[in-house]
Amino acid sequence: MDAFSYHDGQLYAEDMPLSTIAAQVSTPCYVYSRSMIENQWRAFDNAFAGRDHLVCYAVKANPNLAILNLLARLGSGFDIVSGGELERVLRAGGDPSRVVFSGVGKSDEEMRRALDVGIRCFNVESEGELLRLHELSEEVGCAAPVALRVNPDVDPNTHPHIATGLKENKFGIPIEAAPQLYAQARQLPHIDPIGVACHIGSQLVDMGPFVDALERVLSLVDELNRSGLALQSLDLGGGLGIRYSTERPPPAREYVATLSATLDALGSQHRHLRVMIEPGRALVGEAGVLLTRIQYLKRAAAKNFAIVDAAMNDLLRPALYDAWHEVKPVFEDTGHPAMVYDVVGPVCETGDFLARDRKLGIAPGELLAISCAGAYGACMSSRYNTRPLTAEVMVDGDHLHVIRRRETIDEMLGTESILPQ
Ligand SMILES: *Cc1c(COP(=O)(O)O)cnc(C)c1O
Repeated sequence: MDAFSYHDGQLYAEDMPLSTIAAQVSTPCYVYSRSMIENQWRAFDNAFAGRDHLVCYAVKANPNLAILNLLARLGSGFDIVSGGELERVLRAGGDPSRVVFSGVGKSDEEMRRALDVGIRCFNVESEGELLRLHELSEEVGCAAPVALRVNPDVDPNTHPHIATGLKENKFGIPIEAAPQLYAQARQLPHIDPIGVACHIGSQLVDMGPFVDALERVLSLVDELNRSGLALQSLDLGGGLGIRYSTERPPPAREYVATLSATLDALGSQHRHLRVMIEPGRALVGEAGVLLTRIQYLKRAAAKNFAIVDAAMNDLLRPALYDAWHEVKPVFEDTGHPAMVYDVVGPVCETGDFLARDRKLGIAPGELLAISCAGAYGACMSSRYNTRPLTAEVMVDGDHLHVIRRRETIDEMLGTESILPQ
């Protein structure tokens, strides 16, 4: 179900015209659909059917408190990568015992706080981190639940900046080195090795790499079993892609079913494992658009530019990854002649574009929706060019909730100070 569709020639979010939202909260702004996010979480969750599992939303994809709260109400777990994300989850009503903590550079302070609130698992990415966590849990007087994040060295066939499971990436422990580190972990009284984790990349559109990674991780689980270490949980990370243009990623249901079938095919000894996944993009990506208004149309010698009020500071993906987002006029068929435009923002960078070479029939003052902006959109925004962080709203049927109001100039400048003399 796509919550963003045209009715009577006008683009809606659920039962709300985007033009009404622009009139109420102004532009640029991010617009999310509650039902799309909830339905997608349920699709992952239901697909596990009878298997012991936990769907842990990868908070970094979109950490807005309202989104975390909706998912917490559904019983979601959370995958965090910082102490700040942990505080968000707690404030949004998330259950700390359903939190897993990923990331290569956890600080003492972050790990102490996570031990204090009792998270489910630390996904440890190096020997140094394991030893540091051991010292901290000794101070606290507990045993830290740990999964080693292994790097299965599979090629996810995705953009190099979002591939994480290759030998040359900074993430995880080489899978060949894992048995040795598990053996070490078992000797540490304040470490409780309960699981194994992996995450091989993002925006993966076929199942092959997921299945390869799962097979490699399961053979590690078997090897550890033979050495007397019975793990309880298997965290397969996130990474399922979405449809930005012509990609055809498997739907959530099929993705889970394939993983499940692979687990079954590889033996009954894996039945008791609790399976965790950490979808980010696939939960929220298609459930959001960036709404922007055209300021000027400009013809240069070689190009036509549609200059809009959103920019790379609001949506960085095109500039950062050369990502492609569909651009939809909020009003269809306004009768302007279609021409090919680069859709660009006001920021003083040539890299400041949201879309290139798009055929659009548009005029100044009209609204555009940049599709599939629910993940890695608002959360990657910055104040570059002293542009305030943009507003975010959640549509629920025909209701509109402002879930982050637009930042004011005072708020933006409030943490800075000048020298006394
Ligand atoms: C980023 C990340 C995710 C989520 O990735 P998506 O591609 O958004 O699903 C999950 N797990 C870890 C460890 C991550 O770093």
